[in-house]
Amino acid sequence: MSIFTIHKNLDILQKKIHSYEKIYHRPAHSVCLLAVSKHQPIEKIQEAIDAGQFLFAENYLQEAIPKISHFSNQNLEWHFIGSIQRNKTKKIAELFSWVHTIADPLIAKRLNDQRPLELPPLNICLQVNVSCDPAKSGLSITEIAHLANYCALLPRLKLRGLMTILSQTTDFTEQRTEFKKLYTLYKTLRKKWSEIDTLSMGMSEDLQAAIAEGATIVRIGTKFFGKRN
Ligand SMILES: *Cc1c(COP(=O)(O)O)cnc(C)c1O
Repeated sequence: MSIFTIHKNLDILQKKIHSYEKIYHRPAHSVCLLAVSKHQPIEKIQEAIDAGQFLFAENYLQEAIPKISHFSNQNLEWHFIGSIQRNKTKKIAELFSWVHTIADPLIAKRLNDQRPLELPPLNICLQVNVSCDPAKSGLSITEIAHLANYCALLPRLKLRGLMTILSQTTDFTEQRTEFKKLYTLYKTLRKKWSEIDTLSMGMSEDLQAAIAEGATIVRIGTKFFGKRN
């Protein structure tokens, strides 16, 4: 793919995001575009940086380590969005600014304890399984309050909000119904913790529904970089 294509994709996505912000009466620039670079080579990430992108997300630690190291002089912000094994928490705590996929107090505690003191607290989102899909990770809506209570007390973590991955529906109304559940939970949590400001939801195929329902971070892979290897 040429430089032109990633430039163009970024341009198209930003225009879409801004137009959805308008349509759904969201403040301008209230939705952040996170580029999901899993299974994408260094060259494409470089093209994205050249086009002005600096927020990137990875799912697999082993794949992320060389990428983060390659771009260490570029002032990028890296988000971890994959499932987390216990033996990976130390590196994740060292290398990332955000983790979107917290669903286990033990993992949260390890990230807290392993976050290097010279870095600011690690920003976290709790992963919610809105549809209670057994094939998906994340906690049910009722379990989230407990985990939020727990994480809010960990000083090296900063509880920023909630994250979800939608079930495979392509129906716009169904997508909105699921995202709305996350938004409702988000509003409830914000009453207790005013620093909560993040709803990480929306991918290539459900971007519009997510913005309609209050997403503040959309995680886009395919429509940003093209198909993954
Ligand atoms: C891969 C992935 C994305 C991006 O998916 P696309 O459909 O390619 O936009 C977003 N979020 C998570 C958690 C992912 O694993």
